[in-house]
Amino acid sequence: MGGLRTAESLRRTGFEGEITLLGAESEFPYNRPPLSKEYLLNPETKIHFNLNHDTLQSEFVLGDAAVRANLKEQTVSTEQGKTFTFDYLVAATGLRSRSLKFENNLLTKRFSLRTMSDTEKLRTAISSGMKVAILGAGFIGCELAATLTKLGCSVHVIAPEAIPLALALGEDFARVIQRNHEAQGVTFHMNTSVKDLIGEDDIRGVLLGDGTTIDCDILIEAVGSLTNVEWLADNNLDLSNGLLLDHALHAVTPEGSLTHVYGVGDIARFPYAHRQLPARRIEHWNIPIEMAKRVAKDICFQEGLDVADYSPTEVFRPLASFWSDQFDMHILSYGELHLATSTKLLDGDFDGEFVVGYYRDDELVGVAGLGMRGVLNTYRAEISI
Ligand SMILES: Cc1cc2nc3c(=O)[nH]c(=O)nc-3n(C[C@H](O)[C@H](O)[C@H](O)COP(=O)(O)OP(=O)(O)OC[C@H]3O[C@@H](n4cnc5c(N)ncnc54)[C@H](O)[C@@H]3O)c2cc1C
Repeated sequence: MGGLRTAESLRRTGFEGEITLLGAESEFPYNRPPLSKEYLLNPETKIHFNLNHDTLQSEFVLGDAAVRANLKEQTVSTEQGKTFTFDYLVAATGLRSRSLKFENNLLTKRFSLRTMSDTEKLRTAISSGMKVAILGAGFIGCELAATLTKLGCSVHVIAPEAIPLALALGEDFARVIQRNHEAQGVTFHMNTSVKDLIGEDDIRGVLLGDGTTIDCDILIEAVGSLTNVEWLADNNLDLSNGLLLDHALHAVTPEGSLTHVYGVGDIARFPYAHRQLPARRIEHWNIPIEMAKRVAKDICFQEGLDVADYSPTEVFRPLASFWSDQFDMHILSYGELHLATSTKLLDGDFDGEFVVGYYRDDELVGVAGLGMRGVLNTYRAEISI
């Protein structure tokens, strides 16, 4: 998505040079949020982004991953042996699923979810009445729990924290989500983790840390992700948790910023505008869109185009936003909730719809709501970013 949005923004801002979009998957760009929701429920769901080739005027090279970038020579080489030269490089290679290792490291009937092909494999493997164990109670784990329950599976979610999604949303909000899931039949095993897998060829169950076992026909790991940065190695970049960028989204080296190399989306670790905190990555859908606009403006500015209202010294400060749909719960958030030191119910009540404010000392750093979208939106301008 970040790659496509950058190409679109470049054309909109007046860039007339050649654009090549290089993608590891053989699919044209598609939208990931439906993978754990509508697209898992229904293969007819349209998930590819609309492409207007007339205005995009870009070459797509698909099914061929970048394996090495040489930033001094300004080249990128691919798995299939092609080499591309560039004036500007935009790294938007996102994440891949993390997988756990067990002593009995069975590999069949074991799934994760990041790509279209992952969803298709999972959809083919499941049927109504199956027992599913999901490791991880973050957004993807909880969305999968809801979708698979709707598909008639019996779902067990296992995670080391006390309350699902508490790390992302705070305890009060998260308790409501857990209650709603349980009312629909999802079983949570919290404060525990999986010690080993049970089975010989196919998985039959999982062994928990406290010695209990849970039967399952399939296992899904929703335990986080790794950044796809290996192709950028050996260029003196900081790749320790994604690609480290400066305030203008240029890649950083110990000698200074590389003004011809940018990062966009989940892979990008970028600094705060005014907080003395380490740079962070934000894995939300709206971030690649905001970054793509900024990168396009910077490239066009460097190319000498007239870019209205743009100053290269302006610090990038996007308002992060995400949503999640689980059963009939629509969760929406603005800001960076993880910065909060306290939370407050701002509207509604925890038995129905509500809006929660997230504060760092006295500063509002985010809001999140279950429903109440109209009310939630009224707080957007107050959030300190
Ligand atoms: C299942 C799921 C559900 C989600 N639901 C939500 C949601 O409800 N709300 C929300 O706000 N966000 C959601 N997200 C997050 C959101 O989709 C991401 O933040 C967004 O897709 C990030 O865009 P991106 O361009 O950085 O990465 P991606 O969209 O992941 O694109 C990265 C691309 O780079 C390709 N690639 C990787 N390595 C290479 C390489 N070496 N060479 C070439 N290409 C490579 C990948 O194949 C991929 O096509 C969800 C994500 C997932 C996986």
